[in-house]
Amino acid sequence: MPLLLMILPLLIHTGHPVYQGKDLGLHYTVSASHFRIWSPPAAAAQLLLYRSAGDVTAYKIIDLQKGEAGTWFTRLDGDQKGIWYNFRVNINGQWSQAVPDPYARAVGVNGKKALIFDPRDTNPKGWTTDKSPVFSTHDRPTDAIIYELHIRDASIDPSSGITHKGKFLGLAEEGTHSPEGLSTGLSHLKELGVTHIHLLPFFDYNSVDESRPDSPQYNWGYDPLNYNAPEGSYSTNPYDGITRIKELKQMIAALHRNGLRVVMDVVYNHTGVTETSNFNELVPGYYYRHKSDGSLSNATACGNETASEAPMMRKFMVESVLYWAREYHIDGFRFDLMGVHDIATMNLLADSLRKVRPDILLYGEGWTAGDSPVPGSLRALKKNVSKLHNIAVFSDDIRDGIKGSVFDINDIGFASGRADAAESIKFGVAAACQHPQIDYSKVNYSKQPYAWSPDEVISYCECHDNNTLWDKLALSCPDASEETRIKMHKLALTIVLTSQGIPFLHAGTEFLRTKKGVDNSYKSPDSINALDWRSKYQHQDVVQYVKELIRLRRQHPAFRMYTGAQVAEYLHFDEHTPAGTIAYTLNGAAMMDSWKKIWVGFNGGDTTKEFSLPAGAWHTGLAMDGSHGTHTGSIRLQGHSAVILYL
Ligand code: CA
Repeated sequence: MPLLLMILPLLIHTGHPVYQGKDLGLHYTVSASHFRIWSPPAAAAQLLLYRSAGDVTAYKIIDLQKGEAGTWFTRLDGDQKGIWYNFRVNINGQWSQAVPDPYARAVGVNGKKALIFDPRDTNPKGWTTDKSPVFSTHDRPTDAIIYELHIRDASIDPSSGITHKGKFLGLAEEGTHSPEGLSTGLSHLKELGVTHIHLLPFFDYNSVDESRPDSPQYNWGYDPLNYNAPEGSYSTNPYDGITRIKELKQMIAALHRNGLRVVMDVVYNHTGVTETSNFNELVPGYYYRHKSDGSLSNATACGNETASEAPMMRKFMVESVLYWAREYHIDGFRFDLMGVHDIATMNLLADSLRKVRPDILLYGEGWTAGDSPVPGSLRALKKNVSKLHNIAVFSDDIRDGIKGSVFDINDIGFASGRADAAESIKFGVAAACQHPQIDYSKVNYSKQPYAWSPDEVISYCECHDNNTLWDKLALSCPDASEETRIKMHKLALTIVLTSQGIPFLHAGTEFLRTKKGVDNSYKSPDSINALDWRSKYQHQDVVQYVKELIRLRRQHPAFRMYTGAQVAEYLHFDEHTPAGTIAYTLNGAAMMDSWKKIWVGFNGGDTTKEFSLPAGAWHTGLAMDGSHGTHTGSIRLQGHSAVILYL
């Protein structure tokens, strides 16, 4: 394998020199602006200056000087703040399109031009004293509770009562409420008690036309344009390069002030456009993987896949996340299709970030959407998570174990009555760690444990992809009453929030979010995607139950074990429970929990089942049916329900 590691980049990349300097892009001071781009194949390179972002013709074109290791540079003396710029390179006698460099940090409308700016002008009042809230006394990832949210979805519906609908600033508004008087937006998130808000892409993406803010447009944003600049459609003025930066920082500061950390969804695995991306205009082909016939490889199903093993792509990714962490006080990153990236790059990235932010939360999708020319053993796939430096992966095992396969509308899971999914749930409860009581041959996807410790696994049953949990239950259980489906829904979320690992909730699941049966809503209108805050009033009982679950998890360290050995030793599954049920006991005392022992019971079936309890008089910690009391000897659990007991 080491031999392959050495050969691979040479096969794919054409021996361009690697630039080691840290000064790619613009470096501004009041006395001069410095520029440097990397383009080894260019015979000439130019900096084009514009007085306004909308200008088609440059008022000045400056030839760049050839620098070391394939770079091109120049310096403009004096304070150049407010001037717009692009670059172009001449390769084989042809000038490229004029584009911002990949490192551009302030861009104009639709990301077409970059701005010379003073970073100090982008800081809102109080930014320099902004601090990330404490979420864990030991900064353990398993103490996090992640809530995945799209910025526009949070506020765009009239029921949000939020002024800056669909904008960064919408999530900075405090004290907003629905027509029924219940908290919405930021105040709702605070009230819910989660620790990390994971925001769908907010770097500058390609699909939404920022010049038409009032026309109906929507996109999740998984189509990167300028990796190091914020998206303009979330700002109140996409034409001005500073506003989007400042307003994003205002939003982050507001979340921090309210006890919430911010996770950024990043998409380094592909670019929104290929031939005309700023990567490709400046160094054709270099940043992408190719098949042996020379055509673009497409492990992302988005038309291209980037080549993280190419030294300058690797450097770009590392410097990009470092920039976001330092400049925007980002508390975590979620890597889209992380299985496309090579392990070495992800580990370099994680190590570099932790030098700056030891408590940063890192996780990603340990899969791809197609074949890649880089061998699976070298990529950041789920099965390789133990080779990664504390970067967690999503567990599709527990996700589909709970509700059935996301790829088959009719498939049901444990919570909706599938008895043979129990082993997949046990696998999820143990956070994919080695456990002596799990029969791995019966687990849906993984036939062996892949995690060394619970902090390598994201436990979830729903995210922005595919049907919402509520819609999935309706589609796969057409004969079940609403009352029964609410029970299934609550059971599903109970499994997620009591499992070891890092729990992850999709926005609105706490009030039975529906996307009206749309499986892939990446460009569906607001009528499908927006959070409808009236649902919070309609389903207050579910909201209250989820809040209780979150509170319980945060109060009880036994649900948040942090080593694989603890999971194997302090989590014990009851043998011989009825079919379609699971019960387990946690050793609370060993985890310094105020509850000496915790017993958790899940009944995924339709009918009431009786469970034998371990010795002792067990008190109710939380019951899905709202009951309280003490149980000795046995307990009966209704169909599709859960209970948490303690000694
Ligand atoms: Ca954009």
